[in-house]
Amino acid sequence: MNSEIASSHPAAHQLVDTFSRSISYLRLSLTDRCNLRCMYCVTEEESNQCPPKLQHHDLLSYEELLRVVGVAVEMGITKLRLTGGEPLLRRGVIDFIRQLGALDKLTDIRLTTNGVLLEKYAADLLAAGVSKVNVSLDTLQPRRFAKITGVDCHRQVWRGIEKALEVGFASVKINVVAMRHINDDEIKDFVRLSRTMPLQIRFIEFMPIGRSTRWNDETFISADEIRTRLAQFGELLSLERRLSDGPAQVFRLGEDALGSIGFISPVSHHFCDECNRLRLTSAGALRSCLLHDDEIDLKAILRGGCDDQGISQAFLDAIRNKPKGHQLEERLRDSGANCHGQMSRIGG
Ligand code: SAM
Repeated sequence: MNSEIASSHPAAHQLVDTFSRSISYLRLSLTDRCNLRCMYCVTEEESNQCPPKLQHHDLLSYEELLRVVGVAVEMGITKLRLTGGEPLLRRGVIDFIRQLGALDKLTDIRLTTNGVLLEKYAADLLAAGVSKVNVSLDTLQPRRFAKITGVDCHRQVWRGIEKALEVGFASVKINVVAMRHINDDEIKDFVRLSRTMPLQIRFIEFMPIGRSTRWNDETFISADEIRTRLAQFGELLSLERRLSDGPAQVFRLGEDALGSIGFISPVSHHFCDECNRLRLTSAGALRSCLLHDDEIDLKAILRGGCDDQGISQAFLDAIRNKPKGHQLEERLRDSGANCHGQMSRIGG
């Protein structure tokens, strides 16, 4: 089937790609700036200095973003994630979200944040229309946090998580990138947390992406290995998969656990067959696969004076070009090549 907007049915404002996947989820990277310098996101050189960032004019303005999202929503996008860089660093983000929240057909607005500014913004985010937040936190140890992120603000992030729970988001998930010899001794501590707090702890496989040189076979830990290691703490009870789980397989450690544990395995068991995502990078490029560097320069199209048809055409083109899978294993095996895009621009 060619990519198309199926319009024969009222509920079928649906974007369907060449491999019959329905595309309903757009991730927006609002800025490439970040207040942390996580070791897997920036290179060693970058962690010691401030890497060059996009200028304000290089980002899509909020007006441009609202126009793009408006068209995308009419085409069938229902779920939006704001990410970055650190999305809470972009000035005016709460007003922007409020305007997104006014789009009738946009039913689900989520945010991924490093949590540094979450305590300050949690209540406003919820009121503006964000229903669910993911907080990235790779360690529960303040000193280690400073090592991994380059900034000593673990307590601030923790207060942000507590605040997010207090204000009442529909879900608060913790993203943990599991890395051997870096934080894998804390897997058990994170799992304990899932028993005592209503958090979903999501172990994410470390991906060879960006210019970071720190990914290698040794640091990588598969989701299967983590599951095996967790077996000693008790039985993992598989939970019924909900739409909001995305690609995660979700479990609970014990009937009485307040939270849950998710595994996201983009490397070892990719979920490309079910991928329903498009990404808009902070530089305004539409990207149909996290791990493929092909992009459509939507910013140039917008600033060339296109009408809404031009925007929808860019979406259809991105969907038509969406690869069947990321083929990461083959690429690594054949040439050792990773994906060159920067996480901070793509947004994860
Ligand atoms: N600043 C926000 C944050 O820290 O959550 C949003 C941007 S960050 C790039 C989005 C997510 O990508 C984070 O959860 C981060 O842990 C994850 N990430 C970045 N580089 C990664 C890598 N090489 N492998 C796996 N996950 C990665």
